[in-house]
Amino acid sequence: MRGPLAVPWSLQGSGNGEREMEPRSWPICQQCKNGQLLPLSDFGSQGAPIYYKAWVCSNPSCGFNIKIRNGDVYINEPINSGAAFTPRSR
Ligand SMILES: [Zn+2]
Repeated sequence: MRGPLAVPWSLQGSGNGEREMEPRSWPICQQCKNGQLLPLSDFGSQGAPIYYKAWVCSNPSCGFNIKIRNGDVYINEPINSGAAFTPRSR
């Protein structure tokens, strides 16, 4: 007489609900060959989300960015540092 040795939930444990913190593979920045291009989303003037409007290099020292605006593609526009505009004088 064989007992139920195989417990179903222990066999399916690694199937679903598993979260891997594996970084997604974004395209490599072609400028510095080091960073990754991260897709950034924005919101339109009427609050409509604009997905993947801009792509920015994850390498801070690189700063490569490409974005689309009104159908035109812009490359390497200056990135605002968050603060309004910080003059480089110190
Ligand atoms: Zn880069």
